Amino acid sequence: MMGPTHAATGAAAWIVLGPAAGVHPAAVAATIPLAALAALGPDIDHPKATISRILPFIAWPLQKVTTHRVEMHSLAVALLVVGALFPVGGLAVTGAVAVGWVLGHIGADCLTDRGCALLWPLTRERFGLGLMTTGEFGERVFALLMWPAVLLYYVFAIKNGWLA
Ligand SMILES: [Zn+2]
Repeated sequence: MMGPTHAATGAAAWIVLGPAAGVHPAAVAATIPLAALAALGPDIDHPKATISRILPFIAWPLQKVTTHRVEMHSLAVALLVVGALFPVGGLAVTGAVAVGWVLGHIGADCLTDRGCALLWPLTRERFGLGLMTTGEFGERVFALLMWPAVLLYYVFAIKNGWLA
């Protein structure tokens, strides 16, 4: 998927899951940009990715030793990133990064035909549902329908008292 779709997916997932996980709505609102930024993180293994242009001094050496959509797109590396952040980040910051990185990026990439090596280092096999191709029509539809889905979730959540 493209950077803007990842960022939007990370933000949308955090807007839904943050309050559901018990994070104060103000803390969720304050950490939405962090969820969006974290959702760009795994693509630091790709030279043309937005995050690689933001952090070239990390991206360049990392790209020498990794393969796109393998190591950085695995659950093991996600666990390392989130685990390293947890002692200093607290629930809101760690939650935003975890949701952005895992759902906004890895989860979203797994919807595409190219998938992710979720189980690296056990296997380099990529898992993908093949529902869309990066940068093509399906991704644009997904990016567009995400926000009405978030709105619909909140209408149901408020109506049913899920957020009380
Ligand atoms: Zn990716």
